[in-house]
Amino acid sequence: MFLKEVAEQLYERFGSKLSDMAIVFPNKRPSVFFRRYLGGQISGPMWSPHLFTIHEFIQLSTSKLPADRLMQSFLLFNAYSEVMQASGSGATTDYERLFSLGEILLNDYTELESNVVSIADVYSNMASLAAIDSGFDYLSDEQKEFLQRFWSSFSTERLSRQKEKFLHLWQKLPAIYQRFAELLEQRGLTNTGTIYRDLVAGRNDTPGFADAYDKIIFVGFNAFNRAELQMLTKWKQAGKALFYFDADIHYLEDSRQEAGLFLRNNLQQFGNEMEASNSIRQSTKPINIIAAEGNAAQVRLLPQLLKQFPTLNSQPERIAVFLSDENQLMPVLHAIPDEVSQVNVTMGYSLSHSPLFSLVQAIIRVQESLAQHNGKRVYYQYLLQVLQHPYLHDNKESQALVTEINKRSLISIPAERWMHIADKRLQLILQPVEKSAMLIQLIKSVLEIQAAAPTDNALGILDNQLITSAYFQLNRLEDLLGQFSYALSLPFMGSLVLQVLRSVNVALEGEPLKGLQIMGLLESRGLDFDHIILLNVNEGVLPGKAAAPTFIPDSIRRAFGLSVMEKQDAIFAYVFYRLLQRSKTVHSLYNSTVDDNSTGEPSRFLAQLEYETDIPIRKDTVDIRVNPEARQPIVIPKDDNIMQRLGQYKGNLLSPSAINNYLECRLRFYFQHLMRIREPEGFLDEIDARMLGNILHRAIQYLYERLAESKAMNKSVTVTDIETMAGWTGWAVDRAFSQEIARDPEQPIDYTGSYRVIREVISVYVNEVLVHDKTYAPFTVRQLEKDVYTTVTVNPNGKEWKIRLGGIIDRVDIKNGVYRIIDYKTGKDKKEFKTVEELFGRETKERNKAALQTFIYSYILRQQFSQAVPVVAGLYDVRNMRKEGLAFDWRFKVQQGKGNQVAVDHDRMDEIIGETLPLLQSVIEEIFDENIPFDQTAITDRCQYCPYQTICGR
Ligand code: SF4
Repeated sequence: MFLKEVAEQLYERFGSKLSDMAIVFPNKRPSVFFRRYLGGQISGPMWSPHLFTIHEFIQLSTSKLPADRLMQSFLLFNAYSEVMQASGSGATTDYERLFSLGEILLNDYTELESNVVSIADVYSNMASLAAIDSGFDYLSDEQKEFLQRFWSSFSTERLSRQKEKFLHLWQKLPAIYQRFAELLEQRGLTNTGTIYRDLVAGRNDTPGFADAYDKIIFVGFNAFNRAELQMLTKWKQAGKALFYFDADIHYLEDSRQEAGLFLRNNLQQFGNEMEASNSIRQSTKPINIIAAEGNAAQVRLLPQLLKQFPTLNSQPERIAVFLSDENQLMPVLHAIPDEVSQVNVTMGYSLSHSPLFSLVQAIIRVQESLAQHNGKRVYYQYLLQVLQHPYLHDNKESQALVTEINKRSLISIPAERWMHIADKRLQLILQPVEKSAMLIQLIKSVLEIQAAAPTDNALGILDNQLITSAYFQLNRLEDLLGQFSYALSLPFMGSLVLQVLRSVNVALEGEPLKGLQIMGLLESRGLDFDHIILLNVNEGVLPGKAAAPTFIPDSIRRAFGLSVMEKQDAIFAYVFYRLLQRSKTVHSLYNSTVDDNSTGEPSRFLAQLEYETDIPIRKDTVDIRVNPEARQPIVIPKDDNIMQRLGQYKGNLLSPSAINNYLECRLRFYFQHLMRIREPEGFLDEIDARMLGNILHRAIQYLYERLAESKAMNKSVTVTDIETMAGWTGWAVDRAFSQEIARDPEQPIDYTGSYRVIREVISVYVNEVLVHDKTYAPFTVRQLEKDVYTTVTVNPNGKEWKIRLGGIIDRVDIKNGVYRIIDYKTGKDKKEFKTVEELFGRETKERNKAALQTFIYSYILRQQFSQAVPVVAGLYDVRNMRKEGLAFDWRFKVQQGKGNQVAVDHDRMDEIIGETLPLLQSVIEEIFDENIPFDQTAITDRCQYCPYQTICGR
């Protein structure tokens, strides 16, 4: 093992003198192992050498404290505001908007400073290409060419607005960075970039820090930044620095091997106290490359692979699972077999992937919703997100409230419904905050309670690490908001909290000497394991294809020798090859399916091994993917229980929309109308669309009811009446909104966010309806939003069923003796159809559901009259009303002859109703036929937007 060999060599060479030396590693983990190996060497008492990470060591050069990331972010915002104000661009007070921008700027700043690049040069305003020739003598010709290429894109063509904006910010960046550095200095603080810059310039305030050690020994490094290279060269020349690089001649000797890109230079410049190994070329240990169909298949194979290692119980710390994709962490932890008693996770993990983050998101939404409703109500979806959150769902009171919301289809939940809940976390979450600043305290209090929950498994321990990190960040945010006195509104505060937490990459670090090791690839630096399993070794993942976000374009990066894609690839290549050097078994798994997130190709590193080395490669394929096609179809036979449930339609109404659903998919009908499973969450758009439709219906109902009241219940409508109603639109929309959201037409609604948009849209739609009613006036309203039904008798299996067929007709009006049935639609419904038969066609892809529904209502209405009256059906599809203007025609259109369509007037309705009735009878008969089960539709396109897709598995 590399670190063991280094420990042996160093002890043999320096013995107890090692106590006076500094040993520097790229990151923390190797020092733990090194200390252990060194301990195994020494026979008598001895002071430990001084072990550092490179960052800890460089930090010794200054007495200033490092500013944490949030403090830097606040200071950068101040610097940005000051510079923009001074330049007359207007200061932004929008800290939240600058936050993510600031993260990129801070990374760029650190990269430039630690690579000793002049910030002024990078961002200088070079109006002419001539400046490049005269001003940058220190750049090579190739670098100048990159620079020219970048600037020519700005100077030779007209600047687009975006480019202009980019340049505007770019030109201000040197001043912003300078002011930022001053603000840091004023507070006696520093950051990594500044430390490197001062160190190289000899401006650090503890110049003799390296003199405290006889030697500085650098162990296990690959790439250095330019500031490090300058310092290391100085220490090397002074005879103070020694280097132990872990290199293999396979990538060292072949200049085409990217894994050796940095080491070839480093070895030339600094030498290597340790001989390069030749293990890759000489290896006879096979590498297992396993193609797995899907990410889940890789994780499922994991227990099987782990169990084959005989040391899984005795020496689990010698086995490592490497994740190239941190999203795999949770599934992997779930997949670890029970016999593994201890697991150690070492990797960076984004808080945004954790359940904790989704809880904070839900808390913020609940608080915003409470604020919208004066603390008295909350929108059901946000409340459900909290009640069903993994941290909170295991609570009887939560479950009862969830059931009530679902059962009663509550949209806006009043405070009385949750007041009795005893769970302290829910009490806190549902208590409206008085000031936005209190939101952070509220979230912290919930996290405190959550952290106190007992936990002993790997997932629980991981959760606690994430909670601690989030808590720390929230504390800092609270503290800094107090120091910088930014007054933020509640939505602003909420989104700032989320921005801050989203940017946190928690360094998960457990006990490295014990347990099965689960690691990120970069965390493997310096370490060796007997058995390694690498997941997601896909092209595009290893090496990654996305560069870190930056405001420094590629050509400028190349011109100034900064990190570019090739260099990042070389870093990953080294990490990958190094892992192979000493391991006894290697399993590389990759996702072989091609989809939006996967190329389906193994990493080119694997292909390189196959073609460039003699390492035996074993290829295998596993397919333990859950294949939706291979799933057993769902078929629900109509047993006694189901038949009993169907009996409800003897009393309850079987609606035309239920018949439509049945024709779309029998199983969907079963879920929705028989089992009454509420459409699961996640169909937010659909729910909003449904709400929009409901409010529109109600608003029109209120308008016509008010008109009738004002005319002593005279329901005739004239052009003048409609003009009067146009003045009541706002009143009607607000009242309808209150009724739908708060179940109380008098309850005022705070129109913010999407509510404001929906209200605007509905007002426009209501006005459109009135405009078209005006062209139809005069007419008389017969009924609005009224229940209608008729009884239909069917005889499936020789048994008679009397079914109540009916529902709510949006509006029936009468003009010149003709009854008109109008349905309002806010979706993309069409009015054209080919034949009535096609309306019932289970296989018809674009079946006109609106037409079928309205024709069934026409039949029901007809049944209400004792004698035949003329009836016509039509659609107020408000989207088309707006589009078609005065040309809008509410009538359905049936195909007649080739390519010919004719409007369906009352004189055609008899024929249409006549054709509808037998087909309708036959569908109803089928619904109640005990021999026809509820099964899935054959047209899978319909599943795409089906709310029961998750349950159904299609
Ligand atoms: S997902 Fe498809 S098959 Fe399943 S219920 Fe919905 S429409 Fe029917």
